[in-house]
Amino acid sequence: MKQITCPIASIDWYNEDTRRVLLDLPSGEDVNFNAGQYLQMVLPEKKCPFSIASAPHLKHQLELHIRPTPGSDDSALIEALLDSASEITIEAPLGDCFLAEKPNHPLILLAASTGITQMKSIIEYLAPTGFDHPVYLYWGVLSDKDLYLSALCQSWADHYDNFHFIPVVSEPDTSPDWQGRTGLVGEAALSDIEDVSTATVFVSGGPAMVYATLDAFMERGMPEANMKSDIFSYAPRSK
Ligand SMILES: Cc1cc2nc3c(=O)[nH]c(=O)nc-3n(C[C@H](O)[C@H](O)[C@H](O)COP(=O)(O)OP(=O)(O)OC[C@H]3O[C@@H](n4cnc5c(N)ncnc54)[C@H](O)[C@@H]3O)c2cc1C
Repeated sequence: MKQITCPIASIDWYNEDTRRVLLDLPSGEDVNFNAGQYLQMVLPEKKCPFSIASAPHLKHQLELHIRPTPGSDDSALIEALLDSASEITIEAPLGDCFLAEKPNHPLILLAASTGITQMKSIIEYLAPTGFDHPVYLYWGVLSDKDLYLSALCQSWADHYDNFHFIPVVSEPDTSPDWQGRTGLVGEAALSDIEDVSTATVFVSGGPAMVYATLDAFMERGMPEANMKSDIFSYAPRSK
């Protein structure tokens, strides 16, 4: 796959551990991605996947949100790169979990932690034409301080009647001021939405969360083909 070396346009901290990285695309380069796809950051000895947070119609820049995993050697390499580099080499686009056209049915978007990036791209792709069908965004985090994009998500809910935003905190002991929903993000969606048989469900998170959510939604009548996640091809479930 083609590699592109992109100058870093800016890096800003959302909170104490998550950064927004804007990459400029050199003139003449076009990544030509669909909403929901990811890129790989090319490191000296490996490549690390990151969802593209921006919408495809923004042609000249790519937005990433990067949060290190504590104890991860790969995250340590990426953090060091972000602290010092002026450009980053990427491969893109990757992933078969995306929206290429306006859906003709409800959407349920389930994001764990930085999985919100994939959903942001999808929502910003759909928003200019409005939402014909209901769109439910559930964002699961450990602690309320991880909800670094909640003002933007709430602004979509305020602006679009068919858009619903439900943040869910799974470890409320860490969030003494949190007044909202608690528990697991997939369970929250299933307790709110009675009929999940016709919606397309996008899920972004680690393999354990994604496969537990698949099983729970199928038990409630969702056809398997209605759920989309990068994890299905990135980390296939062993038979
Ligand atoms: C398709 C994909 C997209 C990703 N997008 C982002 C992102 O936008 N921002 C970010 O900070 N990290 C993202 N990650 C995780 C990131 O690639 C790793 O944190 C980083 O490469 C360090 O590697 P690690 O081996 O320590 O992985 P870990 O950080 O330990 O990742 C643990 C597991 O969680 C999964 N995972 C973690 N985050 C995501 C996510 N957002 N979407 C899907 N799966 C995830 C990975 O598949 C992996 O199996 C993504 C991972 C994948 C597979």
